[in-house]
Amino acid sequence: MPELPEVEGVVRQIRPVAIGKKIEDVFVSDTIRLSKTGGKEAVLKKVEADSFIERLKGSQIVSVERRSKYIYFGLRKDGEFLLVNHLGMSGAWFYVGSLMAIPEDKFRKHVHVVLTLSDGNLLAYSDIRRFGEMRVLNEEGDYPPLLLMAPEPFDENALQHFLDMSESPKYRNKPIKEVIMDGQVISGAGNIYATEALFRMKIHPNRAAHRISRKRRAELFQAIVDILLESIEAGGSTISDYRNINGESGGMQNRFAMYGKKQCMTCGSVTKTLKIGGRTSVFCPTCQK
Ligand SMILES: [Zn+2]
Repeated sequence: MPELPEVEGVVRQIRPVAIGKKIEDVFVSDTIRLSKTGGKEAVLKKVEADSFIERLKGSQIVSVERRSKYIYFGLRKDGEFLLVNHLGMSGAWFYVGSLMAIPEDKFRKHVHVVLTLSDGNLLAYSDIRRFGEMRVLNEEGDYPPLLLMAPEPFDENALQHFLDMSESPKYRNKPIKEVIMDGQVISGAGNIYATEALFRMKIHPNRAAHRISRKRRAELFQAIVDILLESIEAGGSTISDYRNINGESGGMQNRFAMYGKKQCMTCGSVTKTLKIGGRTSVFCPTCQK
């Protein structure tokens, strides 16, 4: 599943090819249309395929930003509005001259939305498992969960927000791993990066938040920020279906010290797994206390 660094990578690539361009045409796949008539709402949320097309067609892309794991396309046509996209499990954007140019068959077969840009190229959205989301909003607040997200981890107020939240009655007794993975506490620390940061800090994922000193929690927060930045630098991690807009994989997965490991690289112990907050957590029973 693409996490913050992967989404950041996608945004940085889309920005230079999309900003200033007009969306000349929009395509929505039959699969998406059928899912809507079946009441399933795959990918396009709270908007009919035809009104989605109508709204986007003729608009100009004025900005492309990342907020947590969401991509915000700022669009202008009789006023400004947003196309907000979450990549879900396997969403990917491709910037190509034609759909045939999408590098792998599995992505080519699952193209669900295509934006034809005024330079003649396509921004094609492929989503193998269709857990991704697209919403057309007049403003962020039209989809309230967006307003509940924690500050960006790189923002000045993010550390204080994390410390306050982790001490609040709602979170203080929860396992630290569940706390740091909660998007209202820290934006964008999904399973991979939470696992890596806890291993780096030698903190057991199941330890209750209040049993970790404020100083250690501040250090843990910094470890998360460091790992996110390292991953952005490495082009993100490719676990299964993540690709950048040219179809390339990231390199961060080669640097994992704990995520997906059977043995601890530090002490050689066999790693253990626990279900925490519904997610499988890998940890070293010797190094992490
Ligand atoms: Zn170990």
